[in-house]
Parts: sequence; structure tokens; C-alpha cells
Amino acid sequence: MRYNIEPIGIIESPYREKFAIPRQPGLVKSAQGSIVMNKEFSSPDFFRGLDSFSHIWLEFVFHENIDRGWQPLIRPPRLGGNAKIGVFASRSTFRPNALGLSVVELLGIHYQRGIAHIDIGGLDLLHGTPIIDIKPYLPYADAIPEARGGYAHTAPEQHIQVEFSAAAKQALIALQQQYPNLNNFIVDVLKQDPRPAYQKKNESDRIYGMQLYNLNINWHVQGNTHYVTSIMELS
Ligand code: SAM
Repeated sequence: MRYNIEPIGIIESPYREKFAIPRQPGLVKSAQGSIVMNKEFSSPDFFRGLDSFSHIWLEFVFHENIDRGWQPLIRPPRLGGNAKIGVFASRSTFRPNALGLSVVELLGIHYQRGIAHIDIGGLDLLHGTPIIDIKPYLPYADAIPEARGGYAHTAPEQHIQVEFSAAAKQALIALQQQYPNLNNFIVDVLKQDPRPAYQKKNESDRIYGMQLYNLNINWHVQGNTHYVTSIMELS
């Protein structure tokens, strides 16, 4: 038996590439985006009552990986990138049905030219991710304080400082009107240390780059300090 699933909306996200997206929602609370609903799912009736919930579940397609198949065994970054676990014991994006599940903060709902926009916080989703369902988060059923979290019981601990060069500080000032929370957002993303596990082991003078919004951000790492060297608008 096969089932057809069609997206009900699409994500507008500051994360324009997979690199540097946090590995789970809520790790970068300052990340804000929107679900732009398809016109046929934009009637205010569909969202009646939703604004009384603080959080929602999103079901979505890992659309960027859809052509890349899946693997039965995964090396989760939380285990240092060496030990293997089964795909169904992981939150890997390479799964038999490339479906993802994230709980995000519901910031508001507004309508623009008949299209519903659901504003969300703390997302871990790439720009353009297709959303296939939205459900309210029910604390009495969905939060299980005594649950065991296996190899990922608590959020990863990071002890990272973030500093900005004079040029990067200038850029933050110039971009303040367009992106009022950019400073905190960059700090929160870098505090997650987006580098792959194998690169964290060795010091190097490598320059890293990530795209947030329409901005290219470069930094390098000295000990526990991630030092932002430049923030440039892409044309
Ligand atoms: N919370 C979700 C879950 O558990 O199903 C996603 C967890 S997955 C480990 C998070 C990673 O998925 C992000 O760090 C990003 O690299 C990747 N990702 C996010 N959106 C994606 C998309 N549309 N296609 C492929 N990969 C995506």
C-alpha cells in the first residue's frame, strides 16, 4: 500500500543551508521563522483555537535529502561520530520515509493577502522545508519528565564564547534595522558549535562560513572562542 502526502505549507527559515542548523528544535531559541500555508489551507477556520497553545508539533519532509536514500546504521554526532546505532534509534535525516518531527514555539498567526503565516520560534528547519501537518503540543501527553533519553538524555553541553571583530560589529550596526536580533542569533547558533565532530578534535586556523538569512558569516575558532570575522550581505 502506498500513501500520497502533499505539503500543506512551506517553511521560511533564516537557515539557508544545512550546515549550522541546530540538531534539534529549541536549542537556538532566538531562531525565528514562519510556516507559509498553501492557499487551500489558509482559512482562519483551520487555526481556530490554535493560539491558546504555546507550542506546536510540525511534521515535515527532509526534502533536501529525498534523493539520497537512507542508511540502516547511523553515527550520531552525540556519540562523537564513531559509534553506530540503528536508524530507528536515531533522529537522522536519512530514513526510509524522509519525515521529520519538531516541536516549536508558536509566536503568532497572521494573514497576508489570504495566506496564513504561522510564526514560530526555535526551529531546526531549512528554508523551503515542506510541512505536511501541524498539531498542538499537549503537555499532559507529550511531556514525560521521567522518560529515559538514551545516548542523548540532555542537551549537549557547550562551553563556547563568541566574539566579533570590529568589522563584524560594524556590520551588525548597519544591519540592525533589517535584522534586530542578529547579534543574539549568531551567538546562539555558534554556541551550538556547528563544526563536524572530527573537526572539533583538532585546532586549526580554518575559516568557517554559514549562511543565515541573506548573510554570509565567517568565523574561526581559537580554543573555546568562536571569533566572527565578517558578516556580508549576499547579492
Ligand atoms: N527535529 C527533527 C526530527 O527529529 O525529526 C529534525 C532532527 S535532524 C537531526 C535536524 C537536522 O536536519 C538539522 O540540523 C539540519 O541539518 C537537517 N535539516 C533540517 N531541515 C532539513 C530539510 N528540509 N532537508 C534535509 N535536512 C534538513
